[in-house]
Amino acid sequence: MTAKIYAIANQKGGVAKTTTTVNLGAYLAAAGRRVLVVDGDPQGNATTSLGVDPRSLSVSLYNVLIDRVPIQEALTLTDWVGLDLIPATTDLAGAEVEMARLMARERLLERALMPLHESYDYILIDEPPSLGLLTINGLTAATHGVIIPVQCEYLALEGLSLLLQTIQQVREVLNARLTIAGVLLTMYDARTNLGQQVAEEVCQYFPDQVFNTIIPRNVRLSEAPSYGQTILSYAPNSAGALAYRALAEEFMAREEKRSPNLVGNEA
Ligand code: ADP
Ligand code: MG
Repeated sequence: MTAKIYAIANQKGGVAKTTTTVNLGAYLAAAGRRVLVVDGDPQGNATTSLGVDPRSLSVSLYNVLIDRVPIQEALTLTDWVGLDLIPATTDLAGAEVEMARLMARERLLERALMPLHESYDYILIDEPPSLGLLTINGLTAATHGVIIPVQCEYLALEGLSLLLQTIQQVREVLNARLTIAGVLLTMYDARTNLGQQVAEEVCQYFPDQVFNTIIPRNVRLSEAPSYGQTILSYAPNSAGALAYRALAEEFMAREEKRSPNLVGNEA
């Protein structure tokens, strides 16, 4: 059993990349899967959302990528059984510049993750809001594709062609098996025509890839990170929680359809 690695990417900020990484991860763990979240964003939002104080850390993703510290040393347990974290601190912001002078700079994360492949079912990489080297590292490491969260707001599709171009380039040069694992509609407000229009547009743009599960706008989802909690522990009966639970189920069903030979090995 080797980990399936996904990058959660969109260079636009505030589209729910981190919210999706953390909460999808929590529900996969609740379903008995072993999950690792890699915080690939210098803002460290996935780290704090999982209740880890960046100031308490002596080793983070920065040291793994730049100083070649073994990734096991950065492995951080969270309060949720089955959900571990490679945390990020603000020094990761300097990593892009420092990576640029390193050999095989696009493959640093891919290589760093190798010792953990047998320890997890899923590795979810929370990408920063840019298309720089950190994001390229995530896309290169992603054995099972990219999940693209799209906020159901005005200009939702803007910038996506740039992301798709980047994915195409990574596929050609660095990671031939890179696919779009799914497009996720987030912050949907059923009361507005705009939300519905955007959802339809996104479905037209990505005819086969949009998850059936749509994440509604839900205040509990925005509150949970400030308590260092996932939605699963903060408000498990909220609409946001139910949506991420449904997403995890849909995601696993898709997964098992894609690689049926692995299903029997999961017990
Ligand atoms: P990104 O990682 O793409 O920048 P975040 O996951 O940090 O985006 O989400 C941006 C903001 O929106 C955060 O404050 C988050 O708590 C909030 N948020 C995310 N999803 C929802 C949702 N479905 N409903 C309400 N607020 C949300
Ligand atoms: Mg984020």
